[in-house]
Amino acid sequence: MMSSNEIREKFLSYFESKGHTRVESSSLVPQNDPTLLFTNAGMNQFKDVFLGLKTLPYKRAVSCQKCVRAGGKHNDLESVGRTARHHTFFEMLGNFSFGDYFKKEAIAYAWEFLTDVLKLPKDQLWVSVFKEDEEAFQLWQAYLPKERIVRLGEKDNFWSMGETGPCGPCSEIYIDRGIEHKCDAEECALGKCDCDRWRELWNLVFMQYNRDENGVMTPLPKPSIDTGMGLERIATVMQGVYSNYDTDLLRPLITFIEDMTKKEYKDNEQGFAFRVIADHSRAITFLISDGVIPGNEGRNYVLRRIIRRAARYGKELGLNEPFLYKVVPKVVELMKDAYPELEKNMPYIQKVVKAEEKKFLETLNDGLRILRENIEDLLKENKKEIPGNIAFVLYDTYGFPIDLTCDIAQENGMKVDIKTFEELMNKQREKAKAARKSEYEIDELASVLSPLAPTAFVGYENFETESQVQ
Ligand code: ATP
Ligand code: MG
Ligand code: MG
Ligand code: MG
Repeated sequence: MMSSNEIREKFLSYFESKGHTRVESSSLVPQNDPTLLFTNAGMNQFKDVFLGLKTLPYKRAVSCQKCVRAGGKHNDLESVGRTARHHTFFEMLGNFSFGDYFKKEAIAYAWEFLTDVLKLPKDQLWVSVFKEDEEAFQLWQAYLPKERIVRLGEKDNFWSMGETGPCGPCSEIYIDRGIEHKCDAEECALGKCDCDRWRELWNLVFMQYNRDENGVMTPLPKPSIDTGMGLERIATVMQGVYSNYDTDLLRPLITFIEDMTKKEYKDNEQGFAFRVIADHSRAITFLISDGVIPGNEGRNYVLRRIIRRAARYGKELGLNEPFLYKVVPKVVELMKDAYPELEKNMPYIQKVVKAEEKKFLETLNDGLRILRENIEDLLKENKKEIPGNIAFVLYDTYGFPIDLTCDIAQENGMKVDIKTFEELMNKQREKAKAARKSEYEIDELASVLSPLAPTAFVGYENFETESQVQ
């Protein structure tokens, strides 16, 4: 069985052997890019190179990039634990060409790596191409029968990093996990079905345009290549398991939680809490290591949500005391070979996590009780929607991130009036801004922790213009 560490190394050295320069992962906190909440793809650190604003001493690069998709254009928070393939934090393997090779070589390299280096079964591989990209459709026919080349529209096969920035048509490589995994959908087919059977492994983006604020696309100085393959996903295939959570990257975390809770993990709906905690503990560890701290605005708030969400699912498993900070060393142990900085930052990370967990637990119990009472009353009246003002009070007074309220609502077959909630949030935000209340809170926490802080605090005022609440 090939370990994730081996896969990561195989990828990097394969592309090195094809003239690519190995580049370190950049921070999860994008540097000098106010359009982005978190690093969401390997190409982020090369954005200016694609745009022609910066040149590098090399034209080909390869990296394994830390990514978080928990806000902004790419937000997979809600899928975590529900699918076998989505995480908040994941590692993206990628090769890049800055105006050097283009489609033909990108396809040839990807195919060779998957079928020759990793020896994946060719007959289980499928690809998708952008429906207007005749060239890609032709090129793939050198490797695959037409029947396994699917033309898809913009949603799947036109990639962009955010609302603005580099973008272009793309081509995705999928593996069919087998007919035995066919779902209940009328048509369980690639592009028509979002189930785990059709496992997207690798996206090859043909970077050709820059999209501006008005949505206008202008051609980039040179067509380029940007690719991304999720390490957890390819590890799943290589390790002969069905879920990312059963790979050597995540399963040890689940086992650790089993030991802590004395409960047994099941790879079904019952295991949801385990998966969320395993996923979130990685995101928490890496985000804090990269200098993010829990707070009320922007990326700080996303981190707070992730911690509180994990804490809440811990409570569901019977963990009533802070526990996430105890999972951190396990994450570090698993990841430190690839990310040595984690070990150095570990005491700091644990301190931040524990402080936030404590704070949350203090108010969580009261909030949960109030929410349950409200839900009971509403259900008695046959109402299926939790009013926005209740969600807001829970947030404001009891520190309940909105997605916790939504999760609990969903468990009871209910919805939350998000619109009213957001209106109240906006009013509150304006007030808070005036009082600079949230910044005070962050400063307060930062001053307690700063002697240990590993990374200069890179600011929370520049975050994505999205609303913090989704
Ligand atoms: P999906 O359609 O499965 O949500 P995507 O098309 O949104 O994936 P891309 O933006 O193309 O993903 O990212 C490139 C690769 O990164 C994907 O092919 C996949 O292997 C991996 N990836 C994307 N999102 C996640 C995630 N949330 N967790 C783990 N791996 C991911
Ligand atoms: Mg996605
Ligand atoms: Mg996709
Ligand atoms: Mg994709």
